[in-house]
Amino acid sequence: MIIGIIGGGASGMAAALAASENPNAQVIVFERQARVGRKLLATGNGRCNLTNTFAVYGAYHGEDAAFADAALEAFDATATREWFRSLGLYTVEEPSGRVYPYSDQANSVVDVLRFAMERPNITVNTGAEVQKIRPCDGGFMIDDTTFCHKVIIACGGLAGQKLGGCMSGYKLLSKFGHRSTKLRPSLVQLKSNWGSLAALKGVRTNCCVDILKDGVLFARSVGELQFTDYGLSGPVIFEVSRDVCCGAGEWVANLDFLPHFSYDELTEELLRRTHTSLPVDELLTGILHNRLGRVLTKTAGIRKTMASELTETEITEIVYTVKGLEVVLTEPMNVADAQVTAGGVYTKDFDPNTMESKLVPGLYACGEVLDIDGNCGGYNLQWAWSSGRCAGLHAGKEAK
Ligand SMILES: Cc1cc2nc3c(=O)[nH]c(=O)nc-3n(C[C@H](O)[C@H](O)[C@H](O)COP(=O)(O)OP(=O)(O)OC[C@H]3O[C@@H](n4cnc5c(N)ncnc54)[C@H](O)[C@@H]3O)c2cc1C
Repeated sequence: MIIGIIGGGASGMAAALAASENPNAQVIVFERQARVGRKLLATGNGRCNLTNTFAVYGAYHGEDAAFADAALEAFDATATREWFRSLGLYTVEEPSGRVYPYSDQANSVVDVLRFAMERPNITVNTGAEVQKIRPCDGGFMIDDTTFCHKVIIACGGLAGQKLGGCMSGYKLLSKFGHRSTKLRPSLVQLKSNWGSLAALKGVRTNCCVDILKDGVLFARSVGELQFTDYGLSGPVIFEVSRDVCCGAGEWVANLDFLPHFSYDELTEELLRRTHTSLPVDELLTGILHNRLGRVLTKTAGIRKTMASELTETEITEIVYTVKGLEVVLTEPMNVADAQVTAGGVYTKDFDPNTMESKLVPGLYACGEVLDIDGNCGGYNLQWAWSSGRCAGLHAGKEAK
């Protein structure tokens, strides 16, 4: 039996290895880029946050998020770590539950997968972009050249276009009658017109972000914020970005740059500084990033030169700005710039226990092309491993 896998990313490689566990299965991986796992190399800022030990209920989204449960239960974070260990990869868990390779290098993950695929019953075709799949003699003909008894679509989503994200999977599946939901960005930077962004470009800081829609709390996250010239980025933004600016209303990010300090503690410290010879520009020096400190005192409306000239009311204004800067959000970046695609091929047309199409027997899909996306923190790769393995095992099962 020949199994064609379209896409040599995270889910495609997991599917290939699972399918090849049946020695009678011949697996062919088609990857349009020059090498497999290109996007994986960029994950986790080059460290690859490959799973999360809390990868369970509530961490996934989609029109039917429960679709993901069966595959995630069958192959959970523990099983994933054991599987990687069996391939030769040591992993470490951070207190947040995020798991990384012990080497701290994403290429270790790609390398162990690449080496594992060097099996007699796996062929990897790189630089091979599949354009067309048609039914043929109870199986499928790929690009009019290669016959496969079964096909697994593991083409990923539209997100991360520079790293290979594309529409291909949705298009290939649509030819078999599989429709997709609207595709939206998730784990994405948020744009703003705030005038001080240029001055803060590149600044990274710890922050508690409250996203407010028409003044009502929509989402909250604590972590690293990064300013860019177009808006807000960094893990703390990715975590709360899903569905922000969807629908009418005013969307605001309320930023607390000192979440671990109370208003009183900060007021006391700044009042103490009014008895020094510090210029106002340096009032927050030693507390916040220098550029951020200067922008925040200006945003608080302070036009004085020396800290000693500040009144208690002005100190209160500064404290409120540091602990509650309001940045109006305009829209998210495009899905092509996002880390993950929210939405995808309707899961109601697939069997959650096998990832096989209910419309076309022998056709499977896994990974981001399906309408499942996870929270920030290793959840999306866990879905890729779990769904890829599920598709591969079942496609390979009936091989004779
Ligand atoms: C910058 C960035 C950082 C990220 N960091 C993390 C992280 O740390 N942790 C985490 O859990 N998730 C992370 N993600 C998300 C995660 O990488 C994806 O959810 C995951 O890779 C999806 O796996 P996949 O197999 O579905 O798709 P992909 O890994 O994108 O693989 C799809 C593959 O199919 C190929 N392909 C597409 N069409 C065709 C075709 N027609 N013919 C042949 N080949 C084709 C593509 O070239 C690609 O290699 C990150 C994403 C980005 C962009």
